[in-house]
Amino acid sequence: MTISSAHFLRRTAASCFVPLLLTLGCDDIKKSAELKSAEMIGDIAAERLASAGETERAANDLINVPIEVRQLHDVVWQVRGVANTQLVATSEGHVVFDTGLATQAAKQRRLLGEAVPGKITHVILSHSHQDHAGGTDFWTEDGTEIVAHQEYPEEQRYLKELEPYLWHRNRTLFPFMPEEPPNIGFLEYGNVVPTVLVDDGDVLRFEQGGVKFEVIPTPGAEGVDNLSLWLPDQKIFFSGDFFGPLFPQFPNIFTMRGEKIRKPIEYIRSLDTVIALEPEMIVPSHNDPIEGREGIKAALIKMRDAVQYVHDEVIAGMNAGKTVHQLMAEISLPPELELSQVHGRVSWGVKSIWEYYATWFHFDTTTELYPVPASAVWSEVRELAGADALVARANAHIEAGRPIEGLHLLEFVLADGNDHRAGLEARKGVLEELLEESQQGLNNSYENDWLRYRLRDTAARLGEELEGESESGSG
Ligand SMILES: [Zn+2]
Repeated sequence: MTISSAHFLRRTAASCFVPLLLTLGCDDIKKSAELKSAEMIGDIAAERLASAGETERAANDLINVPIEVRQLHDVVWQVRGVANTQLVATSEGHVVFDTGLATQAAKQRRLLGEAVPGKITHVILSHSHQDHAGGTDFWTEDGTEIVAHQEYPEEQRYLKELEPYLWHRNRTLFPFMPEEPPNIGFLEYGNVVPTVLVDDGDVLRFEQGGVKFEVIPTPGAEGVDNLSLWLPDQKIFFSGDFFGPLFPQFPNIFTMRGEKIRKPIEYIRSLDTVIALEPEMIVPSHNDPIEGREGIKAALIKMRDAVQYVHDEVIAGMNAGKTVHQLMAEISLPPELELSQVHGRVSWGVKSIWEYYATWFHFDTTTELYPVPASAVWSEVRELAGADALVARANAHIEAGRPIEGLHLLEFVLADGNDHRAGLEARKGVLEELLEESQQGLNNSYENDWLRYRLRDTAARLGEELEGESESGSG
């Protein structure tokens, strides 16, 4: 296979974190369930998503990936799915990298087991997200080592403790998720207990059946517990979600979904580590592999330089006394570093780097120090100014190409559940405009998901149902 530019800029925007979207309707499943019933649950969830509305399009891109086996190299196999599972075959047993979603893993395990029979000696987990670790139970047998990053248990702890909060936020963006997290042992965070932990700065090296393996910590991408797998003889790099769902792209330095901070400099250092390896093939755990040493190297350097550029511009701006909002507006990638922002977004990268260094107090207003937000007085301002006057001014801003100024004024109009019809219609209009602009522009999937959520909310307050949205998708 040769590499094509299409490989480098696939437009299949999809969440790199795939929520437990495939757990719909699996109340009766237990850890001891037959593989067959787990497969069936996966099929039900797939059908449900396939019939869902426009909102679910990003998730649908991945759910439409067939569960099928393919051989990528002499010793490398993959079973595809929402998240792929990779298998390196050796005469002394196989090494598995990532275990997919619990609801797809049974079928993935069966198909790959049929194609490449043999015992599984190691399961290596790229990170904590359930689309990468959720199927682990299906891949382990007596004596299988489960290899994870030193920080994996801690990531599991906080993801479990904050599950209600994170579930709510994810469900806001991905309304097809069930209302409540599944209360099923093997789908829960913390269920997978690694037997081998790899710390930052260490590389776990082993040789098995004549194949050399290097398990390399690459923190800073999807979280602090990122591990990658490198086959030095084959020059194949298994990346998990290290690059996100596209390659190359501007990364999600840290995500607006709301997880722990991801460190920008760690990400740059991890990219340096990968650049030095000079991979000839990258195998991500979503979508297709990428081949070609020179093309991969150039793309990796571009990603690293883009993150470094944004980082350095934020530092310079902070030292020059600029506000975070000024920098969000001012900083953009120079033409030679242009990258897709379908997943990560430069202006959010600016904000996250700022807050990584400066944390929560922006030195803007005294009120930041106290638990009374500006929104506490929005309805008072509305009373003083008059809702109609505020809507008129908001519309003037919107018509003059200042939609965000318009949205600010509409917050006063609609505060405290005030369903002012003209205000709601104005908000619906501006949200539609922003969504259209986003889709024609950066097409960032998270921005689109948020705008769709606010559109649903606004339409509901107007007593309308949005076109293409239906109850069927909001389980
Ligand atoms: Zn993922």
